[in-house]
Amino acid sequence: MILAAAGNDTIRNLVATAPLSRNVVARFVAGRSATDAVIATRSLVRDGMNVTLDHLGEDTTDAAQAADIVVAYQTVLAELAAAGLTEHAEVSVKLSAVGQKLDEELALANALRICDAAAQVGTTVTLDMEDHTTTDSTLGILARLRREYPQTGAVVQAYLRRTESDCRDLATVGSRVRLCKGAYAEPESVAYQDPADVDRSYVRCANVLLAGEGYPMFATHDPRLVRIIDDRARWHDRKAGQYEYQMLFGVRLAEQRRLAGAGETVRVYVPYGVQWYGYLMRRLAERPANLAFFARALAGRK
Ligand SMILES: Cc1cc2nc3c(=O)[nH]c(=O)nc-3n(C[C@H](O)[C@H](O)[C@H](O)COP(=O)(O)OP(=O)(O)OC[C@H]3O[C@@H](n4cnc5c(N)ncnc54)[C@H](O)[C@@H]3O)c2cc1C
Repeated sequence: MILAAAGNDTIRNLVATAPLSRNVVARFVAGRSATDAVIATRSLVRDGMNVTLDHLGEDTTDAAQAADIVVAYQTVLAELAAAGLTEHAEVSVKLSAVGQKLDEELALANALRICDAAAQVGTTVTLDMEDHTTTDSTLGILARLRREYPQTGAVVQAYLRRTESDCRDLATVGSRVRLCKGAYAEPESVAYQDPADVDRSYVRCANVLLAGEGYPMFATHDPRLVRIIDDRARWHDRKAGQYEYQMLFGVRLAEQRRLAGAGETVRVYVPYGVQWYGYLMRRLAERPANLAFFARALAGRK
């Protein structure tokens, strides 16, 4: 229902203009501009966190729009560098935003430009993973990016049946791999449907990544999985800093601080940009408690 509302112009206008909903947006989205993103990054880094910045914008429909996204990433990378933050902040990129659905070669060329801009200021890029029809294409482009920029991060989704095998292929020296549950509605033919099966797959994949030679990045807010990762990391003799936890901006802040305080590397995924609406709706759809928080704000009680 919420995802359907995401496409409704009346609701969009209500959300965008209600003064109190701004607080809710600000909880999950760092702001509209690169400067807003850098301000949020500075504050998180001061609190001992690392950051990956996501310039919001999907489903690019022409080459000019894709080129604008590249410029947006180049701009934010330059601003991060000017602020002296690139040791602790990288960027996350969706290939669909840089033209994957139009032409894979165009997406590769655009992604190379972003990787180049990141490398020039001493930081990295991680390729977000989108729906399963793009997985092969995204892993193919990743492999080509890694020829020139081996530090480019991959993302795998535990809900896909193929992912344990992908983890085996990706757990190589220097390979940065983010493991998440997966955020898209996927068919039974390719994805586990039962949340318990997704969790079991997450743990199997985590074991493969921890046993391998790469750098695993565990993206989850799930307290049970965080406990299991902590245990498994010790079992595989991984010290803090040889893997990291990742959580979304505005989600489980106390847990982010607790992990960082315990000496773990924590990276916060920070979205920003004018196209914040679809992202916000996905966060609300994911968790009823977020929706209650949002409803209270719209009603003026928070
Ligand atoms: C850093 C990061 C990067 C991501 N990148 C991608 C990507 O590239 N591709 C992709 O498909 N998906 C991505 N995701 C989304 C991911 O796939 C999941 O959809 C999302 O993280 C929800 O799964 P979860 O593991 O947090 O657990 P869930 O199954 O959503 O939640 C499990 C438990 O976690 C706790 N919890 C969850 N949310 C909250 C909250 N808001 N407040 C308090 N407790 C909470 C609750 O106890 C809940 O029961 C990313 C997620 C993160 C954190």
